Amino acid sequence: AKWVYTFGGGKAEGHAGDRDRLGGKGANLAEMCNLGLPVPPGLTIVTDACNSYFENDRAMPDGLREQVREGIRRMEEITGRTFGDTTRPLLLSVRSGARASMPGMMDTVLNLGLNDQSVHALGHDAGDARFAWDSYRRFIQMYGDVVMGVDHEVFEEIPEDEKGRLGHEQDTELSAVEWQHVISRYKEAIEEVLGTPFPQDPEVQLWGAIGAVFSSWMNPRAITYRHLHGIPAGWGTAVNVQAMVFGNLGNSSATGVAFTRNPSTGESELYGEFLVNAQGEDVVAGIRTPQNITEAARIASGSDKPSLEKLMPEAFAEFEAICNKLERHYRDMQDLEFTIERGKLWMLQTRSGKRTAKAALKIAVDMAEQGLISKEEAVARIDPASLDQLLHPTIDPQARRDIIGSGLPASPGAATGEIVFTSEEAVQAVKEGRKVILVRVETSPEDIHGMHAAQGILTTRGGMTSHAAVVARGMGTPCVSGAGNIRVDPRNELLIAASVTLKKGDVITIDGSSGQVLKGEIPMLQPELSGDFGRIMEWADASRRMTVRTNAETPADARAARSFGAEGIGLCRTEHMFFEDDRINVMREMILAEDEAGRRAALAKLLPMQRSDFIELFSIMHGLPVTIRLLDPPLHEFLPKTDEEIADVAAVLSIDPSELRQRVDALHEFNPMLGHRGCRLAISYPEIAEMQARAIFEAAVEAAHETGAAVVPEIMVPLVGLRSELDYVKERIETVAKEVIGEAGIGIDYLVGTMIELPRAALRAGVIAEAADFFSFGTNDLTQTTFGISRDDAAPFLATYQQKGIIEQDPFVSLDFEGVGELIMIAAERGRRTKNGLKLGICGEHGGDPASIRFCEEAGLDYVSCSPFRVPIARLAAAQAAI
Ligand code: PEP
Ligand code: MG
Repeated sequence: AKWVYTFGGGKAEGHAGDRDRLGGKGANLAEMCNLGLPVPPGLTIVTDACNSYFENDRAMPDGLREQVREGIRRMEEITGRTFGDTTRPLLLSVRSGARASMPGMMDTVLNLGLNDQSVHALGHDAGDARFAWDSYRRFIQMYGDVVMGVDHEVFEEIPEDEKGRLGHEQDTELSAVEWQHVISRYKEAIEEVLGTPFPQDPEVQLWGAIGAVFSSWMNPRAITYRHLHGIPAGWGTAVNVQAMVFGNLGNSSATGVAFTRNPSTGESELYGEFLVNAQGEDVVAGIRTPQNITEAARIASGSDKPSLEKLMPEAFAEFEAICNKLERHYRDMQDLEFTIERGKLWMLQTRSGKRTAKAALKIAVDMAEQGLISKEEAVARIDPASLDQLLHPTIDPQARRDIIGSGLPASPGAATGEIVFTSEEAVQAVKEGRKVILVRVETSPEDIHGMHAAQGILTTRGGMTSHAAVVARGMGTPCVSGAGNIRVDPRNELLIAASVTLKKGDVITIDGSSGQVLKGEIPMLQPELSGDFGRIMEWADASRRMTVRTNAETPADARAARSFGAEGIGLCRTEHMFFEDDRINVMREMILAEDEAGRRAALAKLLPMQRSDFIELFSIMHGLPVTIRLLDPPLHEFLPKTDEEIADVAAVLSIDPSELRQRVDALHEFNPMLGHRGCRLAISYPEIAEMQARAIFEAAVEAAHETGAAVVPEIMVPLVGLRSELDYVKERIETVAKEVIGEAGIGIDYLVGTMIELPRAALRAGVIAEAADFFSFGTNDLTQTTFGISRDDAAPFLATYQQKGIIEQDPFVSLDFEGVGELIMIAAERGRRTKNGLKLGICGEHGGDPASIRFCEEAGLDYVSCSPFRVPIARLAAAQAAI
């Protein structure tokens, strides 16, 4: 087998397309070499060698040693140095390089090949003994830690101790002789800890380092990183062995990192930092303040340290030309590492540079406009999820974070405020001009006003589709849900975290994008929507097949969604409208009524309120489709719970508290999500559905009249499992439609459809479609009912499931393609077999998740519907799915 690919001296065996075998770093080193760029010669051991190493009980694969030796022979030829030689030694770096970049996760060894003899040769060669001893001690330190597994603290204590003894403060004050002393102590410490000496044989050093890099693929850090980023263990890592070049050979030497464009703004300007007389890790380690590469950046930063451009103009000019060449070659912004050894430039790495969402947009648009990439490529290059960063305030990445707990990143953005524990307090505080975070065990529909008032919401229970999460996303309010490591004690008004207990009025910050809960106020960056955002959206819309609607019930949400480009409403959850102001009491009156006549009397009061809500929504949507769902939740959600609340409500409704308590108890259900809810309510109390239908039709007439745009309401029946359920409710709706048409004297076009939220509905879709004008997949409930996992109770054990590798993704966040997805496929197929062109959509939370949106494209859905703030994400994801 071919285990080793060499590069150097102007040619390479590999190329950039060979990433799978050579890893990212190795493939790009080969590519740079083939482009004729100055790359120190080296070799790459393929990723399969790493896999073979683990398959064979950590034995090096057959033939690897010979091939590495041959590769080193080539390096010796090119450099005129010899590995293991004591007069002109070839020194090596050994670095990992997986297919996907895993920054800082795996091990690196530099200066390999140094020993008690060759250190003299290096010093002589360089004309600088101190440099040689410093390099040797760095090598022992790295090798001792990474390869031999000696605790790195040992290596930190010894120089500290020496400096203390000698009265030095900085490493740089140590002389050659003093470093020699540190080295002797290092070697003694290693022998003492391990019982074996530090290896002097370069060959032994090399194989130790290669083994260590292989092994680092399986270190816990790397395993966790792979888990978080979905990188399969089976990819393995490549190993790059390369001739050392030294940036620490005096003042004509330097080392640095650079981006071909500004990674925070996307501005087309070379952007980077370097240090004179330093080795690679020094720039990142932050011990010395790095200098700007370009003169323009130096002036802008106000630094008085010279730029590379001024200091080493020739090396700079060559570097700048290489940057341009690489960017054009790779057709993307590059992140580069380089070293200048005594005035000679060497390239050590190039790769696609990580960038902020804002920079990603600007770079994609600029490159498309320069003709470097196509518009489709520009669209494909933006990570839809990253758009969240642009739509919400975010925590300044420079800020110090005092994390006191964490939960699910339920609704993106960061928010700071005083802790309050009730919605009333939230409303009150905001009236007084204060900013608050509403902290609850979980929220219920009654908290709507508090949630509206609060800057952010923190709950200690509940998952990604819990009430708090869904409502917060709808409002664009940051939310962390299910923070299980924080306890709320509402009685004593305390928030109890592991490290600290906070009280009402104390300030916290939540980061709904990461799920972190932080103490105090943290500096934030405000969102800005640039022209580039608009351009990308425009190009995305041109490639998109599915339409994107929004889930909205308030005028503010509907307007926000329109401004983000929503093409209609896919779900108006009418129950949310009953919590506003004092409607809840009328609603309670209706629920508590003794008989149908009493209910109808209360409903008559609700009718004008619902009607005016719908008129407003229809007007905002101006002729775009609006899907309105009939009342869905179990009725006790509208009723008071605690004795205190019961007393208050009884007073308002002038009824006896004990009677109210009895009614509340009578409506109690053991399993409300599978209880008296959805279309079951419309069947028990058809007058509710009739009132809602009347409000919808009357509003349609009125809005059409006012706006001049045709309004075609889509009425949606929730939680249908039987065709007969839909038939029953549909008949009521039709009767009301006829009445309103008669009264208004004009025709009304409307659709009646159903949600598909139960496995039975999916399986019986062929029959249900006979009675439905459209299907909308309610994947929150469909996931809940397919898995038999309560969406409100799942967060803690799903987190355990993820930790233990039982499931990869929370199925309430990203659609379970295999199970729930198959039901969707079945329903779509059977529904359309009955009714060609049956309109299909999705309105569960998955409608705003990019991976789920890709699935919807494949399933042939007509639209996705999501929270207003996810509309841009969905537009982009739908375009990418179609490209
Ligand atoms: C659903 O179940 O997916 C849905 C959209 O309805 P809700 O979340 O209101 O139950
Ligand atoms: Mg539902």
